[in-house]
Amino acid sequence: MTAPALPWPGSWVLPVVVLLLGASVGSFVNVVAWRLPREDSLLWPGSHCPRCGTSLAWFENLPLLGWLVLRGRCRHCHQPIALRYPLVEFLCAGLWVAMLAATPGGFGASPDPLGLVLSGWLLVSWLFPLVLIDLDLLWLPEPLCRWGLLLGLVVTGLLGFAQGVSEGRALLLAHLIAAALGLLGCEAVSALGQRCLGRPALGLGDAKLAALMGAWLGPLSLGLALLVAVVSGAVVGSLGRLTGRLGPQQPFPFGPFLAFGTVALWWSGPGPWLALLVPGP
Ligand SMILES: [Zn+2]
Repeated sequence: MTAPALPWPGSWVLPVVVLLLGASVGSFVNVVAWRLPREDSLLWPGSHCPRCGTSLAWFENLPLLGWLVLRGRCRHCHQPIALRYPLVEFLCAGLWVAMLAATPGGFGASPDPLGLVLSGWLLVSWLFPLVLIDLDLLWLPEPLCRWGLLLGLVVTGLLGFAQGVSEGRALLLAHLIAAALGLLGCEAVSALGQRCLGRPALGLGDAKLAALMGAWLGPLSLGLALLVAVVSGAVVGSLGRLTGRLGPQQPFPFGPFLAFGTVALWWSGPGPWLALLVPGP
């Protein structure tokens, strides 16, 4: 599959605009990841230093640049500002640009290219707070998973019905089945872990995130994304245990690996991964 031909003139203008948009969204992702678990309002008050409460001036609030202007320290209390903030903005900006060239599968023969780009932006922006909250608290908030699942079905419906009623119905059904398979599959693995290891192999939220993945990816890409998540999680987990950064029984968040698998499959579609698994002649 080739990258979708976008209806905009090429060159560098579009990627730069998208980069700035993505960085701004990354800045909001930081706010969501900090405030949602604390049940603070997402919109009010404006950004402030988490240590001393000083409100940020507009230039300090600029994504990426703000942190550089301040050289990583609060201008009032001079406490360091975590590197994670600009890092998340940078990564979100990069993912937004990458989504311009995404070729997800599971959306029929001719999904609208602009619709795919918009959906990709929504997907990465939705997954990002989930990843950060799981890293911080080993917790995938249920409402974020539930609404993310519904959004996935809406996106599938919009992209599907734009190609005809029968196509829309078929895609929606396939993605619904994938969501159910993701949920039940992960819960089955978790129950199996409980029986064999005496503890659940997966967190409660992981099954809900897998359901979200199914709604966005459809059955084939869901299966491959879960495979990517398990393999990458096993590699990182083993490295963590070998280097002593993870204790032998210490749980570690699986959400980031699920999100990685989701974005990887969304970006490339299932083709390259299938070719990797089933080498052709
Ligand atoms: Zn401060």
